[in-house]
Amino acid sequence: MTFSIETIRQLLAESTNQRRALMEAYACLPHTRCRRQTYCCSLLPEMSLLEALSAIQGLLEMKSEQRSWMSKRLIRYFLLNPVEILRCPFLESNSCLIYPTRFFGCRAYGLWSKKHYRKKAEQSRQAKTLNQRQWQRLGVSLPQEVVDFNVDYCPYVERDGNTEVDDTFLLNTFYFIDTLSEHLLPWHNTFHHQYFSDLSFLLASILFGLQRAVQLKFEVVRHVLLTGDKGRVDQLIDKHDDFLVNLVAWQ
Ligand code: SF4
Repeated sequence: MTFSIETIRQLLAESTNQRRALMEAYACLPHTRCRRQTYCCSLLPEMSLLEALSAIQGLLEMKSEQRSWMSKRLIRYFLLNPVEILRCPFLESNSCLIYPTRFFGCRAYGLWSKKHYRKKAEQSRQAKTLNQRQWQRLGVSLPQEVVDFNVDYCPYVERDGNTEVDDTFLLNTFYFIDTLSEHLLPWHNTFHHQYFSDLSFLLASILFGLQRAVQLKFEVVRHVLLTGDKGRVDQLIDKHDDFLVNLVAWQ
């Protein structure tokens, strides 16, 4: 089962109520302040399918030029993130371009307890090591500093207001969002298991097709590691202007 423009169109049409409930769930989380603003925006967060659809809806509401530029950034992130530490594609000049609708992962960062955050970081490290081994089986050695890269625990996040927030509250919110996303079964599971909850992978597979996206990523990673040349990646991406425009036309 693979996502296509048509699938996304149907899922957007079917998820209006769930996306509204998602925004209400976000609103229950406290506003935060941090002196290290955007320090944590070092990776595109994992997300549920519902959150990915909400981000795609945000892209559709952008002007064509910005949508085209933003989509290309996400494709570039997908192709190059195994070889380079890239910041989140939604980050521009130390501002989040989708801040009001940013993902649960962004909102919860800094609110988890140190113990829970370390447990999540360890799970992420194990997943990245497994991924590194899979690349190794294909004859590609990923740079160790990229594999090891992780955003450390942040002790500087301050909450506004009096909302009580602990790990249980955050986990309940996470499960609530996941349950909303489960309304989109079986696609919810497909996005999680086959696309690794990665919006950049979803968009790349819409643009190139799933198999071709994976093949291109392999070719790009191997080429960049061998030559250090990323020019071909930019050429490859620049050919595709505003590939989400067909979804805009439907709206
Ligand atoms: S979506 Fe926004 S807040 Fe979240 S990591 Fe990206 S730039 Fe940061």
